[in-house]
Amino acid sequence: MARIAILLSDRCHPKECQWECQAYCPPVRMGQECIVEGPTGQPIISETLCIGCGICVHKCPFDAIKILNTPEAAETEIVHRYGYNGFRLYRLPEPPEKGITGLLGPNGTGKSTALRILAGVEVPNLGAYDRPPSWEPVLARFRGTSLHRHLTRLAQGTVRAAVKPQYIDLLGDDRRTVEEYVEGEPARVRRALEAVELSEQRTRSLAQLSGGELQLAAIARTIAQDADFYLFDEPSSYLDIVHRLKVARLLRALGEQHGVLVVEHDLALLDYLADQAHLLYGEPAAFGVIGRALPMRTAINTYLSGYLKEENVRFRKEPVRFVSHPPKPPAGRAPLVEFPALRKEFPGFVLDVAPGTLVKGETVGVVGPNGTGKTTFVRMLAGVEPPTAGQPPSGVTVSYKPQYLKAGARTSLRERGEALAADPAFDARLFERELVPGLHLDEVLDVALPDLSGGELQRAAVALTLARTATLYLLDEPSAYLDADERMAMARLIRRQVERTATSALVVDHDVYFLDLASDALMVFGRGSSRGEGRGEGPMPLRDGMNRLLAATDVTFRRDAETLRPRINRPGSVLDREQRSKGEYYYEPTP
Ligand code: ADP
Ligand code: ADP
Ligand code: MG
Ligand code: MG
Repeated sequence: MARIAILLSDRCHPKECQWECQAYCPPVRMGQECIVEGPTGQPIISETLCIGCGICVHKCPFDAIKILNTPEAAETEIVHRYGYNGFRLYRLPEPPEKGITGLLGPNGTGKSTALRILAGVEVPNLGAYDRPPSWEPVLARFRGTSLHRHLTRLAQGTVRAAVKPQYIDLLGDDRRTVEEYVEGEPARVRRALEAVELSEQRTRSLAQLSGGELQLAAIARTIAQDADFYLFDEPSSYLDIVHRLKVARLLRALGEQHGVLVVEHDLALLDYLADQAHLLYGEPAAFGVIGRALPMRTAINTYLSGYLKEENVRFRKEPVRFVSHPPKPPAGRAPLVEFPALRKEFPGFVLDVAPGTLVKGETVGVVGPNGTGKTTFVRMLAGVEPPTAGQPPSGVTVSYKPQYLKAGARTSLRERGEALAADPAFDARLFERELVPGLHLDEVLDVALPDLSGGELQRAAVALTLARTATLYLLDEPSAYLDADERMAMARLIRRQVERTATSALVVDHDVYFLDLASDALMVFGRGSSRGEGRGEGPMPLRDGMNRLLAATDVTFRRDAETLRPRINRPGSVLDREQRSKGEYYYEPTP
């Protein structure tokens, strides 16, 4: 059995360890050069000499090595490889001539790489990482396939591709104004800014924009280009539900004339947006295989089932299940805490939250557009933002995960856990036995927190927050940076823990599938009569909360017959009109 040996070079610190990987390697001890020092000072692991014992994987103090069996795909299907012990991508998605194709798969399996290749930003090396890549062998390899035409045009430079890159945070340091950044023919720029509702901000500097506004600016820049082919890498990050839908409609309009490729983890959105999707499977940072394109409904149902029949690959142990009816009201569940009306006044913004009751064992989703005070409300309950009027409840212990995370000092998650173990309020057993495995953090336990990816840091922060013994958990946007699978696993984990310990959680989020799986009830935020006013109400039953949120967002959902997952209705469809007339935006009208 051939093996893949991966060295995560940003985690490998060859000067700070004892070269345990080499010292304990059985072939090395037998005199074979299985692990040697490479030109960069980091080890090179021979895939032919490796016996797959996994000792180096366990001995590495920085969790920098992965040894895996090769995937079901053939070696000749490698399209791109980052170095000898680097990530490899198998196959490519089909760029559509017209319409929208999605890419759906775990973080670190090559979605952005595939997008960059199809945009012509990266020339694929077909696995020959040590030679300068060129188009000729690529065209030869793909001759006779449907990709050949697109690749030829990329090689000739006759296809214009516009890309919305995944990472937009970097733009926050940019000195350009929105208008300068969006670029292009003035009429197109104006239309693009209007389409994303950023016209008012056009002379502001990018550095002054919120995360959501930066995302909209990046989307505007992409659609303002006169291109043949458009690629969007994770367009929904930082956007609220209202803007996610707006962007979806915008991309659909674009897809009527052009080919569009989208990477997206919000399943309700991707489902609505795309006509078909490729599922990816693989091992993060090691390899990714791109499956055949499936019609959209099948793609998501297959994804939820956890089993890709055509490739005979199981990528999750259990299917994700939805229920078609709202959760039963918590009969006999005791109130945990009541909070009074709370008010916060900032210069230019006033938030009013109506009084509410949190019930034992209940997870409450907190929903609403950006800038309506969700974070401010959570901070008031957490005791970090004093209200202008009203007293946050006393007698509850809270554990709080802020919206924006800082990695802090160079310690690992394991070290953080150990340091906290002495604290009686920290449940070390829960942390180690349930949260670390449940949030798939085993593999990064020994990595310094500043070296974690956005999704890994998010999961680490949630694990540390849930491990604290508290009566109220406050989680502000825990699904940010996570892939769809991680979102669904986290949603279930939060809900189960809260139920089991008869505590309560408030979870701010924008992803409908995440909210559906996590929540028993909702708090809904919105604007008052002006932009400077925010209002919060609830908790209220899920059905009422969804009706309020979705009426304000102007969208209805039906249920998929097979998986019972919610699906966005086409505006004006029979179901859409019927549900609107009955005021049932989320659950089927009761006969
Ligand atoms: P995704 O978009 O699915 O999260 P990416 O395409 O960004 O995945 O990356 C897949 C893997 O490829 C990453 O985990 C990383 O290990 C590796 N990788 C990405 N870019 C580079 C690069 N420029 N050099 C080396 N390795 C890279
Ligand atoms: P959400 O989490 O719903 O996006 P926030 O609670 O973060 O909303 O913000 C609501 C409003 O309060 C925003 O307009 C923001 O500018 C304002 N705001 C938040 N914190 C402060 C602060 N410390 N000083 C002044 N204004 C603030
Ligand atoms: Mg990516
Ligand atoms: Mg917020």
